[in-house]
Amino acid sequence: MSSDPRLYPPRERTVEPKRPVDFAAELNEAQHKAATHPDGPLLIVAGAGTGKTRTLVYRVAHLIERGVPPQRILLLTFTRRSAQEMLARAERLVGQTSRGVHGGTFHGTAHRLLRRFGPEVGLAADFTILDQGDSEDLMQISRAALGLGDKTKRFPKKETLHHVYSRHVNTDIPVGAILRDEYPRFVEFEDDFARVFADFTARKQDRGLLDYDDLLLYWALMLEAVPAVADKVAGLYDHILVDEYQDTNVLQARILKGMCRMHRNITVVGDDAQSIYAFRGATIRNILDFPREYHGAKTVTLEENYRSTQPILDATNLLISRAEERFSKDLYSKRTGGEKPWLVTAQDENQQTRFVVDRILELHEEDIPLREMAVLFRAGYMSADLEIELTARNIPFDKWGGIKFLEAAHVKDVLAFLRVLENPRDEVSWYRLLLLMPGIGEVTARNAVQSMADLAWSHDSFGRFTPPPRAKEAHGALVRLLADLRTRSGGDESRVAYEIARVRAMYDDILRERYDRVDPRLSDLDQLQTIAGGYPDRATFLSALALEPPSSTSDLGFGGESEDDTLVLSTAHSAKGREWDAVFLIWAVDGWFPMARALGSDDEIEEERRLMYVAMTRARNHLAVSYPLNVYDTRRGADYSMDQLSRFLDRGVRRAFQRVTLETPTDAAIDPEAPAKAPEVDLKALLKNRFAPPPAP
Ligand code: ATP
Ligand code: MG
Repeated sequence: MSSDPRLYPPRERTVEPKRPVDFAAELNEAQHKAATHPDGPLLIVAGAGTGKTRTLVYRVAHLIERGVPPQRILLLTFTRRSAQEMLARAERLVGQTSRGVHGGTFHGTAHRLLRRFGPEVGLAADFTILDQGDSEDLMQISRAALGLGDKTKRFPKKETLHHVYSRHVNTDIPVGAILRDEYPRFVEFEDDFARVFADFTARKQDRGLLDYDDLLLYWALMLEAVPAVADKVAGLYDHILVDEYQDTNVLQARILKGMCRMHRNITVVGDDAQSIYAFRGATIRNILDFPREYHGAKTVTLEENYRSTQPILDATNLLISRAEERFSKDLYSKRTGGEKPWLVTAQDENQQTRFVVDRILELHEEDIPLREMAVLFRAGYMSADLEIELTARNIPFDKWGGIKFLEAAHVKDVLAFLRVLENPRDEVSWYRLLLLMPGIGEVTARNAVQSMADLAWSHDSFGRFTPPPRAKEAHGALVRLLADLRTRSGGDESRVAYEIARVRAMYDDILRERYDRVDPRLSDLDQLQTIAGGYPDRATFLSALALEPPSSTSDLGFGGESEDDTLVLSTAHSAKGREWDAVFLIWAVDGWFPMARALGSDDEIEEERRLMYVAMTRARNHLAVSYPLNVYDTRRGADYSMDQLSRFLDRGVRRAFQRVTLETPTDAAIDPEAPAKAPEVDLKALLKNRFAPPPAP
């Protein structure tokens, strides 16, 4: 087992600002107007690459120059990474005072505020956060507690229950309406849904558990229902700025409204053509209704794209012109040079991979750094073949999005131990870890949890539970481990890493028993331990993992740290807001993009189209879209099938592309006249030995 990693603290860093900032020279007229807009509501609605994010950065700089204290500015973005980048850019403009600006995601900010003000509105000070999987597990507990699991008629699964619940909370659409719309066959269970949701809500409250939706919900309620606290929370900030506003939902709009109750200094920027989170309840109504919601709001539109060459814009303009509803206009660019984007037909996945890697190397030889190139795809698993090839050819890459590290069962197992230490009422984690222990089954686990609840979850309540004989040994071991971890808490720097090491002294053996493929799982846990070393305490570590799960391989510290020239592989969703010199969009195959499961409704197809638009508008100078003709698709249970180009690249759109076909290398001719020689290797013998026992050492 690895020892605790050393903590290396960052050095003080100073950045010389380039004061004074020449706003008029660095922004166009409309951007300039927006950045220096006086107080009051402001909406910037404009297409991809028109400088919305840039304008927001300059607006932050402008506010600071105007004398607004940085800590009274709140900048809300979609990922923590983008908040950090924007603030780093602001720092280059106005210096390090900008570090005082609060920047982050809605969920991260909610968490920070609830830790501080939660106790004033009745939240437990030690609440822990449930991620999506945990919430579904808790939903399952509620469902079982109400006896709804054993109905003869099929009652919806925990995932369905959770989806309906989350949709209801985020959109305010009544449960009955969601059922009629999405799950007509479950309409008869509407009352049961309500009972499960009531139990789920009560259970979360009793146990000090908050799920993602609760973070937003409590933030909103704190602002709407408790005037004294609302004044304090809203009183923290004088200016609020929001990037990617098209991807916010009704609840987030309510939060913003509440945060601006004492002033109306809100700036939001967005693009309806890039709305890609409707499936999670986001609504572009937020953009459309903004002027009505904030009376007298100034609206700024931008039409010049500074990112892409005109030939690339011609293609993306055409692509999005097919969208059914659209408010933003076609974009133009002064960057008229450059060639048409490529539409590449490959014979199969292999050839597609080969093309992408070859072309990347070619562009690299033309002095485009790897970090200025990205390969995008619809879903995380679509890059598997490419990753193998990149590794084989020693091309460093960083993969964004689609990382399943924290969802891995063994990682969740280890975290369950830490979580019951942090919050002894965490029922979901108790079940998880009890069921891991040899000799403890469903019934014992349920009895143990019940007896702890009866004893008000006191620290010694698990020790006071009397297990059946079969479970005695496991119970004793667990009691000792938890007591040991509890009594030795406090103090040292990498406390959390130490705790993980202690848990693993017991858990690694369980892992070896329960799972196949042990080694990669053990190295995941090494990784978890290393990450933990960077956190000051367990509570911070657990919240950070739940709220800002590692979103790229480099976040996880898998190699590549010394490499600063690294190719990016990303899902289309995670590429939002970014740009690269060269962009490859692979798997432009119908059923892959749009994804097959989105083909159910027109709304979903429209969302897929906007997602493809997001992907293609990331490119500055080079864009290549590729699709393999033969897809070996195990999910369809078929063998090879001839597949079709994505429906979004219809004939009209294709005219903006140049077609590229890949040359197939011919096999080296075999000389039929070659004389037979004595074999150098006897393949028959190799095959025969394949299943023979290994030779004795
Ligand atoms: P998206 O919709 O994809 O988020 P966006 O509207 O936020 O795009 P930005 O990322 O801010 O656009 O800008 C796109 C690119 O254009 C960036 O490289 C930015 O620096 C550049 N840019 C924007 N405005 C100007 C300008 N006035 N002068 C020079 N470069 C600009
Ligand atoms: Mg942007």
